[in-house]
Amino acid sequence: MKVGIFNIGKILSGDIGAPVASGDTVVMNDGTITSVGTEGDLAACDVTIDAGGMMAMPGLIDSHVHITFGDYTPRQKTVGFLESYVHGGVTTCISASEVHVPGRPRDSAGVKALAIAARKCFETYRPGGMRVHAGSVILEPGLSESDFADMQREGVWLAKAGFGNFPTPYDYEPYVAMARRYGMVSMVHTGGASIPGSTGIWADHLIRIQPDVSYHVNGGPIAMPDADFPRLVEESAVAMQVCTAGNLRTTLLVAKLLANCGQPDRLLIATDTPTGSGIMPLGILYTMSHLVSLGGVEPEIAVAMATGNNARVYRLNSGVIAAGRDADLVLVDACLGGSRNDALSALKNGDIFGVASVITEGIPRFVGRSRNTPETIRRAKVAQCSVAQTFGAEH
Ligand SMILES: [Zn+2]
Repeated sequence: MKVGIFNIGKILSGDIGAPVASGDTVVMNDGTITSVGTEGDLAACDVTIDAGGMMAMPGLIDSHVHITFGDYTPRQKTVGFLESYVHGGVTTCISASEVHVPGRPRDSAGVKALAIAARKCFETYRPGGMRVHAGSVILEPGLSESDFADMQREGVWLAKAGFGNFPTPYDYEPYVAMARRYGMVSMVHTGGASIPGSTGIWADHLIRIQPDVSYHVNGGPIAMPDADFPRLVEESAVAMQVCTAGNLRTTLLVAKLLANCGQPDRLLIATDTPTGSGIMPLGILYTMSHLVSLGGVEPEIAVAMATGNNARVYRLNSGVIAAGRDADLVLVDACLGGSRNDALSALKNGDIFGVASVITEGIPRFVGRSRNTPETIRRAKVAQCSVAQTFGAEH
């Protein structure tokens, strides 16, 4: 399917180095963005969407979601939460490990099988159109080189440290190094213990372990001491993920420290849901709004922190609006009835975006209005359509 969007007020690229792309038109074909600019072969499109002057951004990438199997969370006993996140503009979820699977295994054979099974269950399954990167192996003592080789062969590329049966957090170091040797992106739980039996993980541990990502560095939900934050910034190159289901004060502290040293590309926005804090379809939008309205982050930079920054660290082809990237796009605007007239001013005011349309894999999933955000000021509508497809309720 070839899809074109025209009449875009501003293209928020998701690339933190060049966060606004010039032009008003994006064309996609077979799941890939083919052109971004002022020209675009709209006449050849199967579907065209009039953005009505609102802004476009890449689909949000939530790099901390506790999926299990199917579109179901045992933690909150809720069906359909992933599909609901699509209505918050989230087009990609990355598994923070399948730790919520009831009775989840704790032996190396079990955690390996769990990661492989989860990975395979989401290879083609897209709830609401969302891409789910599942299968994040929970690092446990006893996992061997051959286990990692098996997992790599079966496509597992995520490893999570923090819930394993290790005497101290330092003992994760060789396992994270082993995961890296087998091509995996590694994440380490940061802050106070989040589940019974897990211990607090602070800067000393992270600096020794050297993972790719400090998971919920702001605390998940309990933060490490303030003195540990500048150490992590200065003594490591780890990506620092801030989560909605965590400590807001330390989220703002992380943003300030990274801004001061000119490294905002290390900040990743995610939710850490579903958890005890619940299910948050709009969680990323809230954290973006907090960083902009309270933390001094420019709004188009906050978009990049929730899209392109995550894509770079997790090596995804989504997260940026540019030719050749995955066609995952969201149309956003200020919400109807608010005091601001466009999406970026709304964030500065502490409001969230209204989501008007979500496109994933080059397919419009809905056009008109999100189920979860307030209505937008401007209206997006299908201008022309020559395929048998419905685009959700246009109300
Ligand atoms: Zn988590």
